[in-house]
Amino acid sequence: MIQKTGVLIEVENNTVKETSLGVMTAATGQEITALVLGNASAVKDKLAEYGAAKIVSITAADDSPDLQAAILAAAVKEYNFEALLGTASATGRDLFARLAAILDEPLVSDCVQVNIAEKTVKKSHFSGKTFATLKINSSLLLCTIRPNSIDPAASPVAGELMEFTADVTGLNNNRGLIKIKETKKDDQGKMDLTEAPVIITGGRAIKAAENYKMLETCAQKLGAAVGASRAAVDAGYAPHSMQVGQTGKTVSPKLYIACGVSGAVQHYAGMKTSKVIVAINEDKDAPIFSKCDYGIVGDIFDVVPVLTEKL
Ligand code: FAD
Repeated sequence: MIQKTGVLIEVENNTVKETSLGVMTAATGQEITALVLGNASAVKDKLAEYGAAKIVSITAADDSPDLQAAILAAAVKEYNFEALLGTASATGRDLFARLAAILDEPLVSDCVQVNIAEKTVKKSHFSGKTFATLKINSSLLLCTIRPNSIDPAASPVAGELMEFTADVTGLNNNRGLIKIKETKKDDQGKMDLTEAPVIITGGRAIKAAENYKMLETCAQKLGAAVGASRAAVDAGYAPHSMQVGQTGKTVSPKLYIACGVSGAVQHYAGMKTSKVIVAINEDKDAPIFSKCDYGIVGDIFDVVPVLTEKL
């Protein structure tokens, strides 16, 4: 049965984020309404191309997350959604938790697959050791999807642009308590690891902070973000914001290149849902070689510059 499905869209510089297009694709076959916080006219065509029959500009009085969540909750009721999906990004995690509280509905976060018709989701458990398929018995399927876990695929429809605003007084007692004063980009304008389509990671073998430049040069050629293992972070070669793994970030890029990373379970937990894993390690018996799709036995200081040059 076709379900009325809302998708919260994230827009940056008047462009729909690739991760949101993946979430739209998860809803293919349903009656999709794309919800854009702000004016959606610049992204209308893109959203129609990916299956949104309705494209809604949501007007909030300001960008306080509790106010935005309250208006989204009102939209859920207005459009009678049976499912509402978003990205498990910083924004999505924040808004969906608030939405779940306002609507008093369960939230399943960081899913890697969703079947809206059957109300089932797949998500990883126990630091990525197992995957569980959960059946959701609530009237509303409220879920966030791990960035890049679903490849965007166009499914064009004629999209209709509309507007929604609501008086949310009484819907959320905390309305307006949080004010965003400033949004700061990463100091060097680096790509967000959790949303990057390609990641090149340096482990303990990188030996010094300045050697990350070698990976950054390669990353520029690949349109990649640069990550680090915990050993590299603990050694002071990279900041914790770059750490991938159980106590770092969970990533799901199309391509993950691990350079001088042994492949400990705690690291693997954070990147195992990558589509293609490449490992470069001088030890042919390193555990990472049993977890990768392609392996190069060699010194990263020999292999990475050659790779960069070829690219
Ligand atoms: P190592 O294990 O030391 O591996 C370095 C690898 O580099 C080796 O395989 C070696 O053969 C290879 N090498 C050395 N020199 C070269 C060279 N010149 N060229 C090519 N290869 C070379 N780890 C994480 O990464 N993320 C986490 O979030 C995380 N959370 C943890 C949470 C807990 C509770 C615990 C207990 C541990 C956690 N760890 C985490 C640590 C994890 O167990 C490993 O210690 C860590 O991942 C090892 O990092 P590494 O692979 O860079 O270093």
